[in-house]
Amino acid sequence: MTKPTAAVVGGGIIGTAVARELLHSGAASAVTLFEKEAELSFHQTGHNSGVVHAGLYYEPGGLKATLCRRGVGLLRELAARHDVPFDVCGKVVVARDAVELERLRVILARAVANGVPGVRMIDREELGALEPHATGIAALHSPTTAITDYRRVTLALAEDFTAAGGTLLLNHPVAELVETGAGVRVESGGTAAHFGLVINCTGLQSDRLAGRSGDGREPRIVPFFGAYMLLRPERRHLVNGLIYPVPDPRYPFLGVHLTKRIDGEVMVGPNAFLAGGREAYRGLQFSPRDLADVAGFPGFWRFAAGNVPAAFREGRTVLSKRAFVDAARAYVPELGVADVVPGRRGIRAQAMKADGSLVDDFVITGSRRILHVRNAPSPGATSAMAIAEHIVRQAAERMAV
Ligand SMILES: Cc1cc2nc3c(=O)[nH]c(=O)nc-3n(C[C@H](O)[C@H](O)[C@H](O)COP(=O)(O)OP(=O)(O)OC[C@H]3O[C@@H](n4cnc5c(N)ncnc54)[C@H](O)[C@@H]3O)c2cc1C
Repeated sequence: MTKPTAAVVGGGIIGTAVARELLHSGAASAVTLFEKEAELSFHQTGHNSGVVHAGLYYEPGGLKATLCRRGVGLLRELAARHDVPFDVCGKVVVARDAVELERLRVILARAVANGVPGVRMIDREELGALEPHATGIAALHSPTTAITDYRRVTLALAEDFTAAGGTLLLNHPVAELVETGAGVRVESGGTAAHFGLVINCTGLQSDRLAGRSGDGREPRIVPFFGAYMLLRPERRHLVNGLIYPVPDPRYPFLGVHLTKRIDGEVMVGPNAFLAGGREAYRGLQFSPRDLADVAGFPGFWRFAAGNVPAAFREGRTVLSKRAFVDAARAYVPELGVADVVPGRRGIRAQAMKADGSLVDDFVITGSRRILHVRNAPSPGATSAMAIAEHIVRQAAERMAV
């Protein structure tokens, strides 16, 4: 069989990793990467926590668990080859009471099943030795959890891609993908190009492009922003690595944590609340189109009705700096409101079903010639290179039929 030409839409970490993998694996004869912005990794990839997750929380056997574990190794090797900073600083997930300790044991069992190296429970004294300013009755320690700079990782992937002959088209929004008898027509900027295979990796816009390309609108992307604060430089010593709460299974996101960033900053956050738009990074920025989309989606109202306590909890951290800091102070009591300054926001592309449930695992759908990444939340950056391998395998299997 002759190798197809391929297009990848979306130059975040996943699209760039897929474009590179299509060339490196030899699955495509030529690859074009379309990105609507003037630079790569402008959206989720450039606005995340920078954590290289070890695979603690995920359902054993699921895509998140397997691709995260594989992704860590691939990422580490790429970072070493391209001189991308990578710090294995370790992480503690801190239990404050007996209920959280029980939940932590469940997470430990999952982490062990997922093959996370070195993960174990530690007592108050060991926690104090690792994180002298943190408080809790016990913690789970993951010594191999790391931090990196995902923008630089994406640039490294792009460097490999272009060095292997790939074509990178910035400022090229793709409007539509049309499957024809012979292949796929990619409409961008009023012109059309033809490819044998197309992969949609458009993150926050992925359901729209999928919908316009015959894959259906659901699951729908609902944008949840996550705001961060930064510790003032003189207070950064309060955190050595990564300090996380035990996630509450009643709430959909991980909860405010303290994260050392690869440039030495310490971030507090992110919280989670409905964003005013899919790309609305500033506080009072709204997109009428995006809000109308959410309001017209019955799944969102079902989700909202089932998550009133979470909305209340997160809403307080949006409206009040004190409430935001209080969420972190539960783990680092010395932290005060005066110790933080506002940081940036990220916006999560969270897929939601019509029944209002959040899609947890990575989801890839499609036809013989078009694949769509429909859900790639955290640990999507950690897993990107393994997701790319998975997609390229899927594409080859579908095209062989
Ligand atoms: C607040 C936050 C914290 C996170 N923390 C972590 C973490 O610590 N560790 C981790 O592993 N993961 C984390 N994640 C998840 C991680 O960032 C994502 O899984 C990952 O970045 C997804 O990459 P992507 O390429 O799918 O999406 P994106 O980075 O959003 O890229 C999609 C790209 O598609 C482009 N695009 C959209 N529409 C079009 C179009 N029509 N034509 C052309 N281009 C288009 C966009 O401009 C964008 O560049 C976090 C996410 C958020 C939001």
